[in-house]
Amino acid sequence: MALKTSAWRAERNRKALARLMKALPAIFPGPVLTYALRRPFIPPMPRLAVDGYWRQHPIRADRLARALAAKSGAPAGWTWRLAEGRASDLPRSFRQPPAPYREPAFARGGGHCCVCGQPVYRLGWHVDLWDAGPNQKASWHAACVTAWNFWSAPSDHVRLLRRLQERRCRESGKRLLKTAEVDHRLPLFQVFKEHRELPWPQLLGYWGLPNLQLINRDAHVAKCAAEAGYRKEARAEDVAA
Ligand SMILES: [Zn+2]
Repeated sequence: MALKTSAWRAERNRKALARLMKALPAIFPGPVLTYALRRPFIPPMPRLAVDGYWRQHPIRADRLARALAAKSGAPAGWTWRLAEGRASDLPRSFRQPPAPYREPAFARGGGHCCVCGQPVYRLGWHVDLWDAGPNQKASWHAACVTAWNFWSAPSDHVRLLRRLQERRCRESGKRLLKTAEVDHRLPLFQVFKEHRELPWPQLLGYWGLPNLQLINRDAHVAKCAAEAGYRKEARAEDVAA
C-alpha cells in the first residue's frame, strides 16, 4: 500500500513538475522555486508556488508587509477609526488590523495592494522582476495575504511561536504547556485607546510578531483579569470625563 501511494505520488509530482516548468516565466524568484521543488507535492502552477511559499513563511510575510506599508505611509487625512453606524465601511472592532487602503475612501485601485498600498506585480509579487508594471487586476500581494491572515488569526500559528520561543512561556519563564495560548503583549484595546495616533505602518507592529507571545493558560488567565480591571478603570475615566 505504501509503495502504491509513493508510486502514485511520484507520478503525480512528475506531471506537476512538467506543468510548473512549462508555465514558469523566464524570471522567477529563486527561493520560491527552491521551496516548490522540495514540497512533498510539487505545486503545478507558478502562482500556487508563490502562495505556498508565503504560507510557509508567515514571519517573513509579516515583516515584508509592514515594510511595504512603511513605504506607502498612511494616506493624507486618514485616522484609525471604528465603525459606529451600521452602514459604515470602517472596521467594526479594534481587533482588526487598521488598513487604510481597504477603506473605499482611500483605496488606490487596481494594481495596488489593499493591505500595504504598494503596487502588485505579476504572480502577486511585490517587486517588478519582469519590468511589466503593476497587474491591474490584482489587489493583494501574495505576501500580504499571509501577513493579513497571520495578524487576524495568530492562534493558527501556535507551533511556530512555540519554536521561536524555545518552548518557554514569555510571562512565567516556565516550560510552555500544550494548552498555551497566543497573547498580544500589549492588548489591542489598549493599542486603540492609547496608541491610536501612532503613524499607521508602526501601528501594524501591534498585530505582528513584535507584539505576539505564547503564554501558558494560567498566566494568560491572570493577565486577562488584570486587563479587565484596567478596562473597567478606563471606562470609568471615560464616563467621568
Ligand atoms: Zn501588500
